[in-house]
Amino acid sequence: MRTVYLNGEYVAENEAKVSIFDRGFLMADGVYEVTSVLDGKLVDFDGHAVRLERSLGELGMKNPITKDELLAVHRELVSRNDVVDGGVYLQITRGAPADRDFAFPDPETTPCTVVLFTQSKPGVTESPASKAGIKVISIADERWGRRDIKTVQLLYPSMGKMMAKAAGCDDAWMVEDGFVTEGTSNNAYIVKGNKIITRALSNDILHGITRAAVLRFAQEAQMEVEERNFTIDEAKEADEAFITSATMFVNGVVEIDGAQIGDGVPGHVSKRLREIYLDESRKVAI
Ligand code: PLP
Repeated sequence: MRTVYLNGEYVAENEAKVSIFDRGFLMADGVYEVTSVLDGKLVDFDGHAVRLERSLGELGMKNPITKDELLAVHRELVSRNDVVDGGVYLQITRGAPADRDFAFPDPETTPCTVVLFTQSKPGVTESPASKAGIKVISIADERWGRRDIKTVQLLYPSMGKMMAKAAGCDDAWMVEDGFVTEGTSNNAYIVKGNKIITRALSNDILHGITRAAVLRFAQEAQMEVEERNFTIDEAKEADEAFITSATMFVNGVVEIDGAQIGDGVPGHVSKRLREIYLDESRKVAI
């Protein structure tokens, strides 16, 4: 049984209880982060801590926990749960007021709810999806307009995954005004003539921590990067396609809406980026 963290305490997972009035439960009024663990160490902890701070700020929530405390909790949970490869999930909600109300409660009397737990994924870097690549379908992006804030309102992305599953695929790329925004839980890329193309940052997509690292590594390796919109038709004609996220790292996409991409296996650019990302992340993990 896992040990989890709830509001300052380490407890058994079946003893961790949150109020039915918690605004995370009633209103999806909360934010989250997922930090990858490789070899028992945290990958890009700083990046996740900075994005958490930003998400909280955009929602007018005061961060209830310092970065040092947060790091200590992450490490303690990894250690107590013997996580070698996997991740740490963190969620902060606006807490549980005395009753349901649309208005935000007074933060002085309603403290935030802070929850962290680990997810162990032995052998995650050698997953079948990473070897074979994934298949995606395109769906309309019907999420709210502030996708740059990492909120826990994940209903539409969950529905997208189910639509993909029903179509015999692994994930969905979302499309708005004719252009791909991102995957349901990852950023989306295509490669054409060795150029890496991905949508520029805005409120339309989550500012992936893995995206930032991968684009930095790509530039350091003299690969060309172009941040611009692309369509599903352009993606179908691309030499390669891939996704990035803290849980999948860099993963090839081999089929889009039934059309094979490249040779139908992860391409050399995405494979190289995955190698660089995993090597460099392991080196600097803390
Ligand atoms: N885009 C969306 C919608 C996501 O949910 C995620 C991760 O959960 C990402 C992109 C990738 O972000 P990161 O690389 O920080 O995991």
